[in-house]
Amino acid sequence: MTKDIKNPETIALHGGDYRSDPATTAVAVPIYRTTSYQFKDTDTAANLFALKEFGNIYTRIMNPTNDALEKRLAAIEGGLACVTVGSGQAASTFSITNVCQSGDNFISSTDLYGGTVNLFTHTLKKLGIEVRYADPVDPKNFEKLIDDKTRAIYAETLPNPYLRVFPIKEVSDIGRKYNIPLIMDNTASPIICKPIEQGAAVVVHSLTKYIGGHGTVIGGCLIDGGNFDWTTNPKRQPLYNEPDASYGGAVWGKVVPELTGANVAFAVRARVVLLRDLGSALAPDNAFGIIQGLETVALRMKQHCSNAEKAVEFLQKHKNVERVIYPTLHKGEIGARAKKYFKGGNGGLVGIEVKGGVEAGKKFIESLKMFYHVANIGDARSLAIHPATTTHSQLTEKELQAAGVTPGYVRLSIGIEHPDDIIADLKQALEAAGSVKLKAVS
Ligand code: PLP
Repeated sequence: MTKDIKNPETIALHGGDYRSDPATTAVAVPIYRTTSYQFKDTDTAANLFALKEFGNIYTRIMNPTNDALEKRLAAIEGGLACVTVGSGQAASTFSITNVCQSGDNFISSTDLYGGTVNLFTHTLKKLGIEVRYADPVDPKNFEKLIDDKTRAIYAETLPNPYLRVFPIKEVSDIGRKYNIPLIMDNTASPIICKPIEQGAAVVVHSLTKYIGGHGTVIGGCLIDGGNFDWTTNPKRQPLYNEPDASYGGAVWGKVVPELTGANVAFAVRARVVLLRDLGSALAPDNAFGIIQGLETVALRMKQHCSNAEKAVEFLQKHKNVERVIYPTLHKGEIGARAKKYFKGGNGGLVGIEVKGGVEAGKKFIESLKMFYHVANIGDARSLAIHPATTTHSQLTEKELQAAGVTPGYVRLSIGIEHPDDIIADLKQALEAAGSVKLKAVS
C-alpha cells in the first residue's frame, strides 16, 4: 500500500506490505500454523541466526500471520516496527524489561489499569526494577523523579476510572531532554489518538480490547515509533549501548540502525532477545482473529465515540446520576487535553456515579438487560462493571478514593449497538437503582 495513504479506515484494511499470500494468492491473511521454517541452505540458516539476513526461523520469534498483523499495527499507529505478544500484560512487561534491568528504575503515571499496577509495584520489584509513580495532573511531576538510573516513562493515553487524557507531548519532551523514552499504553484510544505523532517512542496495546473488538481473543503488541535514538546518551540506556553477551556481543543501539537503516532497536531487541528468552508469543490463530477485528476498528471507534457522547448527554440529565465522568467533562487544562490529543471522538468509556452509593450501584448493574456485566472494555457490545464490589473490592476506603472508585461508581464501555437501545437500557436500570435509594430513605 502506498505510504501516502493516511486514512485509518484504509490503513486498517491495506496497511503493511501484505497484498495477497505469496504462496497461494489468498486475499485474506492465512493462518500459518507452523512452528518451524525449512532453511534454504546452511549459509542462509547461519545468516538468519546472525541477523545478517531477516527471515523466518521459529514461530516463538516470528510467523507470517503475525507479521502481516504487526506491519498493519505499525502503520495504524504511525510507527516503524511492531512485535505482537500473547497478551496486553505481556506487552507492558516487555516494554519495561526491554529498557530496564535489575537496579534500574522507571517512572509511571499513577493513572493505570489495576493489572499494570500489580505488575509494576510487586512483580517488577521482585526482579529488582523500581517503579516511581507521578501524578499526571502536572507533567513536571515526572521530571522531579528522574535520576541516573531512570530508563523510561510509562503512561496510559485514556486511563479509567478518571478518564483524564495524558499530557503526551509535555511528558515526552521532558523525557527526551534526558534520552528517556515515553512508552504509551494506547489500548483505550486506538485511531482517535496517535501518541507517536506526539513524541512517544513506543506504543503498547492490549489487542484484546478495541482492536480485536469482539471479545474473542487475548493479545498484545509493542510498536516502535522509530523516532528515538538510543545512543545519544550511552550511559542512560545501557541495554542499547553495551555489548549483549547473549547475542555475540551485539550493541543493539548501533547494530540495528546499521542493519535496517532505521531506529528500530527497541522492536528488534524485544523480538530476538525477549521473545526468544521469555516466550509469550502470540499464536497465529489469535493473530488471525485480531486481524479480523483490526480491519473494522476505525469504523467501530467512530460508533463507540458517537454512542458514548449520546449516552453522556442522557446521563448528565438523569436525576439518579450524581456525576458523569468523560474526558471532555474535566475542567480546565485536563479537559482541554482531550481536544488537543484526540481526533474524531473522545472514546467509548464513560464513568457514572449512581445516586445512592454501593447498593444503588449494584442494583443498577443487576438491572441492565442489554449491557453485559464483565471486567472487559472495548468489546463491540456494551459492557458495565461496578468496581467497588468487583475489581477493586479488596481495597480500603482510602485506596478506593485514591483510585477514583467511589461507592456508586460504575464503568461503562459503550458498544456499537444503536444509541437508542443503549440509552433505553441505561434508563430502565437507573430507574431501578432509584427505587433502592427511595427504599433506603423511607
Ligand atoms: N492495558 C490496559 C489499559 C488494559 O485495560 C488491560 C486489560 O484490561 C491491559 C493493558 C492488559 O491486557 P490483557 O488483558 O490483554 O492482558
